[in-house]
Amino acid sequence: MKSTSLKLADFKDSIFGVISRLARDHQAVNLGQGFPDFDGAEFMKDLVTQKMAEGHNQYAPFHGTPNLRTEVSNYYKNLYQLDYDPETQVSITVGATEAIYLVLTALTNPGDEIIVLEPFYDSYVASIKMSGGVPVPVTMHAPDFSIDKAELENAITPRTKMIILNNPHNPSGKVWNRDEIQMVADLAEKHDLFILSDEVYEFLVFDDAKHVPTATLAGMKDRTITVSSAGKTFGLTGWKIGWICANPEVSRVCRLVHQYVTFSVSTPMQEAVAEGLKQLPQYIPGFVSVYKSKRDFFYAEMKKLGFEFACPRGTYFMMVPISEKTKLSDVDYAMKLIKERKVATVPPSAFYLKSNEGSKYLRFCFAKKEETLKEAIANLSLEA
Ligand code: PMP
Ligand code: GLN
Repeated sequence: MKSTSLKLADFKDSIFGVISRLARDHQAVNLGQGFPDFDGAEFMKDLVTQKMAEGHNQYAPFHGTPNLRTEVSNYYKNLYQLDYDPETQVSITVGATEAIYLVLTALTNPGDEIIVLEPFYDSYVASIKMSGGVPVPVTMHAPDFSIDKAELENAITPRTKMIILNNPHNPSGKVWNRDEIQMVADLAEKHDLFILSDEVYEFLVFDDAKHVPTATLAGMKDRTITVSSAGKTFGLTGWKIGWICANPEVSRVCRLVHQYVTFSVSTPMQEAVAEGLKQLPQYIPGFVSVYKSKRDFFYAEMKKLGFEFACPRGTYFMMVPISEKTKLSDVDYAMKLIKERKVATVPPSAFYLKSNEGSKYLRFCFAKKEETLKEAIANLSLEA
């Protein structure tokens, strides 16, 4: 038999699936894969039922329903003063994951270099490789996950096409401040690079942190491709409705790829998300306060267990340092916790290509019911 594609030769099962399977096999409390173990917004579920009953059940226009594109455009305008024409600059995708794939496929030529800031969401590197590009890692250094400007600039070559930035940042929970984004933006401008800005956790920011979309920085709107989705915002990760906001030419080529990969995204879900986005101003404060109390509870309990780290200000993840507790690597310690303490976490070395800083941490997801978090803490506090 002929061989399968060499492009996939070093692809493995994603760490999220591997950990969820191990959690099931060992009956461990799963604080690994990032998804809520409680249901999402009730009004959204009512809306989708209503949209199906109203007959929104056939193929949607391939780049998204007019209602959803309009509501995405409206919220960027209302919340961030960003103007995207729903006809030519907003495209609907199957979650942010498809959006990332489309952007990379649509813009990358073989051999183009794409800078990924590690630790990274694992689909970036996979999508870069599938598009024929070359991932170039630059490390966000622990413990504050900051970027060194010289290191970033040194990674830029004449072949560099794009920098992928994720803010708020999975897995660290870091919310980038304006100066940090400006530093990346300045380099993008100087070297004429695109920025793919993954902002799926845009509404999950706590305390005095404020989300600054990359496209809002002066001169950045045209070279920034913003990707987001409804999954985290409405606690409905299984709905898989995402979007790309980009200049008309970039949008056009992303849509070309989308029409042959996916063609069209679930119609009733899009119509429900369109209605949901209209309600963001009323909905977001309650949503944030639910996750903030989970974060506060889990952080305080982890501190009591002797884990020392700064409290993350965004997302629903914590990167917890393990060196005080063990000499084991993240992978071995994660396995030990799954088997012996019945708690599953993600070993973050899977999110790095270059640095081994990830081997000194575990990523915990706190988007879980109070009883789940309590059970995990009780298990972790058992004597080894
Ligand atoms: N980007 C980041 C940083 C993520 O953590 C995730 C995973 N939830 C995604 C993109 C993918 O989002 P979606 O479920 O909308 O495909
Ligand atoms: N984004 C989620 C996480 O970081 C999971 C998504 C996935 O399983 N691909 O855990």
